[in-house]
Amino acid sequence: MYDIKLSASEEALVAKARYFATSYLTPRAEQWENDRKMPREGLREAAKAGLTGLDSPIAHGGSGTGFNAKLLVLEALAEVDMAFAFSLTNTQGIAGRIAMDGTESQRERFLADLLSTERLGATALTEPGAGSDFSAIQMNAKKVNGGWLLNGEKAWITNAAEADIFLVYAQTDPAKRWRGIASFLVDGRQQGFTRAAPYELLGGHAIGTGGFSLTDMFVPDEDLIAQPGDAFKAAMLSINGARTYVAGMLNAMLHASLFHAVDYATKRQTFGKAIIEHQGLKWSLADVATKLEASRLLTYRAAQLVQDDGDAMLAASYAKKFAGDIGIQGIADCIQAMGANGMRTNIPLGRHLACAKLASYTDGSTEIQNERIGASLTDIVAKTV
Ligand SMILES: Cc1cc2nc3c(=O)[nH]c(=O)nc-3n(C[C@H](O)[C@H](O)[C@H](O)COP(=O)(O)OP(=O)(O)OC[C@H]3O[C@@H](n4cnc5c(N)ncnc54)[C@H](O)[C@@H]3O)c2cc1C
Repeated sequence: MYDIKLSASEEALVAKARYFATSYLTPRAEQWENDRKMPREGLREAAKAGLTGLDSPIAHGGSGTGFNAKLLVLEALAEVDMAFAFSLTNTQGIAGRIAMDGTESQRERFLADLLSTERLGATALTEPGAGSDFSAIQMNAKKVNGGWLLNGEKAWITNAAEADIFLVYAQTDPAKRWRGIASFLVDGRQQGFTRAAPYELLGGHAIGTGGFSLTDMFVPDEDLIAQPGDAFKAAMLSINGARTYVAGMLNAMLHASLFHAVDYATKRQTFGKAIIEHQGLKWSLADVATKLEASRLLTYRAAQLVQDDGDAMLAASYAKKFAGDIGIQGIADCIQAMGANGMRTNIPLGRHLACAKLASYTDGSTEIQNERIGASLTDIVAKTV
């Protein structure tokens, strides 16, 4: 239907993810949200089900999956629990980074534990004083004999509630702004790491969002991942994929919400007929369906560009911005169509709405997507098709 080409093994992987979502996640997701903590056992089960290592090559224990298949796997999981899917893929992103670009020693130290989810990984850019303006980070990296000393604080980091393998971005020379930023692989089991209490949020606690501080944390030269100047560019490059799969997860949550709303609306009667027979309500859900279709097309176009190593910058921004805007409004419309019953927690719409709102900040807020698109307006209008 959307012309997404997958290999036979990728098709099988996506089918596995759909099965895992319905058989394992569906009966547990609500309870996990009520527990307000990360479902560690669920992450291990996902690993056992073969849903980790998507970003890692087969030679290093992964499945060597293409981006399109990864997107469909994450969509399948997010239909039930976006928070779970987001946590899982953040750990696997670190695994993939180490598998592809790491040293032999880094692979030995970290890879197996990340693939099994025995240890969780995270990418740490944001700080209490710097989010959208990433070049303003203050985590300091000072060169010392044989390595670096890191000092500072990170905030709003996915998986930080439990993760202890971090890709940390730190400033080596504040005068150089983004050109001074380098990235480091930090082992949270070493001296100098202090975890903050995880955040209490509106929802999405499976994401394990939290913070940590580093105090004279020694990082050996080997674990400098990107040199000053290169780290910022690398982060900007990888963010297109993240924006695209977040868009996919938003679409999945909207699709799940629409499914519940349509099912309810065909059964619930008012004024002598099913509420879906009332034009006002039917048109409201038809609007949701139309926007969902448009959003999927934007997302799959961006995904193909990411998969092909094309220039996905604008496509990913369009996809994430649009999926965020229509996702938040569309899920709310689906809740509205279900009357007061839409507010119950035994259906996932409230969880989806909270996660859609969280997604409007991750990997660049909606306003930052606008900044990106706005900066290209001259080029955009110069193109005729
Ligand atoms: C669930 C969750 C998971 C996250 N996971 C991670 C993670 O794993 N790693 C990580 O590093 N970070 C993570 N983040 C942090 C996320 O990247 C930041 O929240 C995001 O960059 C925005 O930063 P901020 O929240 O500090 O908002 P600010 O940057 O303080 O912005 C506040 C408001 O101003 C708007 N704004 C800012 N600048 C402009 C501008 N130029 N024009 C117009 N409006 C503007 C923003 O869009 C926002 O609405 C996560 C956040 C959430 C909610």
